[in-house]
Amino acid sequence: MVDAATPRPKTILIVEDNELNMKLWNDILEAQGYTLFKTALGLEAVRIASDNQPDLVLLDIQLPDISGFEVARRLKADVATQSIPILAVTAFAMRGDRERVLESGCDGYIAKPVNIVELLRTIETYFAP
Ligand code: MN
Repeated sequence: MVDAATPRPKTILIVEDNELNMKLWNDILEAQGYTLFKTALGLEAVRIASDNQPDLVLLDIQLPDISGFEVARRLKADVATQSIPILAVTAFAMRGDRERVLESGCDGYIAKPVNIVELLRTIETYFAP
C-alpha cells in the first residue's frame, strides 16, 4: 500500500551516450535522491520507459542508434508512455532546433553546456504538485 505522506523517490530515465555527461547527470541526480535508470541507446530507452514508467526522461538528442527526436515520437505515440514528461538536453543551439525538439514531443528543452542549477530547477517543475 502506498503511503501518500511518504512518496516514493521520483524516478528519472537518463538517455545519454556521452560517458562523461552520463556520469555527471548520474552523480548530480543521485545526490538529489532520484532513482535512476540509464541507457546510451534510443531503442533501449523506449523499452526501459515502457517497462518501468519513469517519472521523467532526460533525453540527449544525438544518440548512436535512433535519435532523441525518434525516441520522443515513439514515447508520445504509445498510450503507456505518452504522459511521461521528456526533457531534452541537446547541443543543438541553432534557430529552429527548439521547435524541432518540441514538435517531436519533448515537453521541454535545455541547451548544452548545461547549467546544473537550471537543470535541477527545471526537473523539479515537472514534479511540482
Ligand atoms: Mn549524444
